[in-house]
Amino acid sequence: VADQAFVTLGTDDVYCQGALVLGQSLRNHMTSRKLAILITPQVSSVMRAVLCSVFDEVIEVDAIDSADSMHLALLERPELGVTFTKLHCWTLTQYSKCVFMDADTLVLCNIDELFEREELSAAPDSGWPDCFNSGVFVFRPSVETYNRLLQFATEHGSFDGGDQGLLNSFFSNWATTDIGKHLPFIYNLSSSAIYTYVPAFKHFGRDAKVVHFLGSAKPWHYKYNPQTRTIMQDGSTSGSQHQFSYLVLWWKIYYASILPLLEKLPEMEDMESQGQKDETTHLISELSTQLKPEEPNAEDERKKWEEGRMDYMGKDAFEHIKKKLDTFLK
Ligand code: UDP
Ligand code: MN
Repeated sequence: VADQAFVTLGTDDVYCQGALVLGQSLRNHMTSRKLAILITPQVSSVMRAVLCSVFDEVIEVDAIDSADSMHLALLERPELGVTFTKLHCWTLTQYSKCVFMDADTLVLCNIDELFEREELSAAPDSGWPDCFNSGVFVFRPSVETYNRLLQFATEHGSFDGGDQGLLNSFFSNWATTDIGKHLPFIYNLSSSAIYTYVPAFKHFGRDAKVVHFLGSAKPWHYKYNPQTRTIMQDGSTSGSQHQFSYLVLWWKIYYASILPLLEKLPEMEDMESQGQKDETTHLISELSTQLKPEEPNAEDERKKWEEGRMDYMGKDAFEHIKKKLDTFLK
């Protein structure tokens, strides 16, 4: 179906990494629709090259910022003014229908059936269920709608300073008119709902189709240990086991499919200018420090021994242990 697409947004290289995992998860589940991403001028040329290998279309748009610091402060998310950039998705009139997905969402199975829905279909927001969450929604690109949205934004602003407040005021009859436009919550399962309503998650969670890592802690903020395939938990991270299993899934896709693309880049032929090369090296070194598995601490090490998980071939090899013992005996 060439005139329908999944669309996401990345205004910087960090959010674009989320978008890459989302795009890959859609591919892994064999979507028959096109994949498009909106980016802003800030996104590096290296990242653009990587995006091109996962998305069918990489479209540069201008950043639109609500600059509404007062409402954003109420939301405690000053960074979300730039989500007004999302409005550009209505200009993608090369498509007849699209599904927008936040860069912090992850697809767990094929969800192409969403294209049977009409504008504006979305799932309830877990914080205020009479509002829809704007992390996943079905829409019809239209320049007219785009212009009306912009005008509405200038006249009324957004009650939360971000795109969600604006879109809910614009599509204000969502809560009361057509139940067909209410997507089941499993199409936009916010990771916080997993612990705020545990019995419901136990009952319905197995049918989850899309996980949304809503809030300020994004998957890329966690540390992941690729050897043990676990999320590093320290004092700053909290969450249920289910939440962690979704985070592990995100990181598995990142390691298996996205990191190899980033590492391959320095060999790319079209990066001839020195400026671009410097940019590439910089990005990769930044990513690799971010992704370097942490030095194991003594506590973790002891736990591993107690659980019988010694690294016989590596640091726990007999010769290393002998060396250590020798230092005591000297
Ligand atoms: N976004 C972006 N750059 C930003 C902030 C947001 O590209 O600096 C995009 C990205 O697609 C993101 C979406 O806007 O997923 C909505 O923001 P976010 O997911 O952080 O909001 P939340 O879902 O936590 O309310
Ligand atoms: Mn989001």
